[in-house]
Amino acid sequence: MAPSKTAPRRPKGQGQWKLGHREPLNPNERSKRDDNPLNVRARIENVYARRGFDSIDPADLRGRFRWMGLYTQRRPGIDGGRTAALEPEELDDSYFMMRVRLDGGSVDVAQLRALGEVSQRYGRDTADVTDRENIQYHWIRVEDVPAIWKLIEPLGMQTTEACGDCPRVVMGSPVAGVSADEVVDPTPAIDEIVRRFIGDRELSNLPRKFKSAISWQQDVAHEINDISFVGVEHPEHGPGFDLWVGGGLSTNPRIAERLGAWVPLDEVPDVWHGVIQVFRDYGYRRLRHRARIKFLIADWGPEKFRQILEDEYLGRKLVDGPAPAVPERPIDHVGVHKQKDGRNYVGVAPPSGRVSGTTLLAVADAAERAGSDRIRFTPYQKIVVLDVADDKLDGLIEDLNRLGLPARPSTWRRSTMACTGIEFCKLAIVETKERAIRLVEDLEKRLADVVPDVPISLHLNGCPNACARTQVADIGLKGQIVTDADGNQVEGFQVHLGGGLGLDSGFGRKLRGLKVTSAELGDYVERVVRRFAEQRDGDERFAQ
Ligand code: SF4
Repeated sequence: MAPSKTAPRRPKGQGQWKLGHREPLNPNERSKRDDNPLNVRARIENVYARRGFDSIDPADLRGRFRWMGLYTQRRPGIDGGRTAALEPEELDDSYFMMRVRLDGGSVDVAQLRALGEVSQRYGRDTADVTDRENIQYHWIRVEDVPAIWKLIEPLGMQTTEACGDCPRVVMGSPVAGVSADEVVDPTPAIDEIVRRFIGDRELSNLPRKFKSAISWQQDVAHEINDISFVGVEHPEHGPGFDLWVGGGLSTNPRIAERLGAWVPLDEVPDVWHGVIQVFRDYGYRRLRHRARIKFLIADWGPEKFRQILEDEYLGRKLVDGPAPAVPERPIDHVGVHKQKDGRNYVGVAPPSGRVSGTTLLAVADAAERAGSDRIRFTPYQKIVVLDVADDKLDGLIEDLNRLGLPARPSTWRRSTMACTGIEFCKLAIVETKERAIRLVEDLEKRLADVVPDVPISLHLNGCPNACARTQVADIGLKGQIVTDADGNQVEGFQVHLGGGLGLDSGFGRKLRGLKVTSAELGDYVERVVRRFAEQRDGDERFAQ
């Protein structure tokens, strides 16, 4: 008998493993089921690096390579307007973007030299500092990948699970262990997570990516990670970490939720493991765009999530804990600051995170001359040199300045970020990095007479994926094709105004008609900033 028209429809399964849905519901899930993505490493070493690009199995090329930090880069000369009409393989170049994960954002001088050397030898001197504390190269050939691993892995760096549906880099405070404001240094927890779980086959097939951040301070954009641990003092138990789950941007942005749990430092790795297992087992695997943990949190709410975490994965109750105090703005660590041991750290601003292998080598030399063996990358595309004695400060600042890395950058240099964009990213609609660099130079001239005493963040993104955090900038720019005054289709941006993290944590307003062509960007930003400066009420912040 045909079902009655009024009978309630059975809800479709969402591919949640724990509910018995083990049959893959889309090609990505099939690919991960057919072969553990970590197996691709052996094929790169034994087959593809020897036989070259054309020997690569397409399922590895566009899928499993990511687990080794490799994406094909965009074929030069293909502009954003044509992208929609092209098949993905038409956009593939035979070169790769390679991401080195730097958990905690931390390197020593020897590691930094190796990163610079890889760029010079294999990446045409390209290197970008990403807003997740990674280093990203371009122009990498598959033939050179094993040699790159040989250079970086003995020094404790890796590309394993730098991309893909797996636990990505664990971000940490760039000043962990040295900041005078820090009560507990969470570095041991980050190290333990990496040692126990990165490259672990039990966690290498998640519904989608899983982004982590652990810091005593609020300097790692914890509100928009899949999981975060943020430092907090418990009135009875002392210092520990407040657990946040389910943040993320892209097309369905969501601020993470507190689970209301206080976690002591030595329990952070196990709680992290519990949360990622909840995601692996209950995460939605039917539709890629609903596969992040934020959708589970949205449907369950934090109470149910915590209960399942405790009952099914940890086997115990977590301790209730207070919320951490919220700073006015997230901290970017640019400038010269005192460490708790009396030495200093110096934060400098590369233009939109763009450096080069040559620059990385020169930073390593400069740090060494200043007596430092610790350099950190930040979630704001910045570089910080730690452990600088007072009498070495001036020399280091001059050295870095000569490299185009100012410790006292203009407000525009300091608060502008850009994603990879159309130069190399296959998903991009518009150019971002070079445009941001030129825009900063332009704004420094145009707005020389208006120096706002609050930073105004400007984030340029090449498409809706929001890799440079469109929605949490004062002025967030999402790349798209727009119509100019003469009716031409040109590169431009949808504007999101008034987003932020910290006290202003929330998403910018996307004003429907508010689109600007790339050519008009300088005029537009100047107008907005001048209006803010003129109409500002007392110490009002941009997002208010
Ligand atoms: Fe590529 Fe879009 Fe991410 Fe920019 S925001 S790096 S264009 S995917």
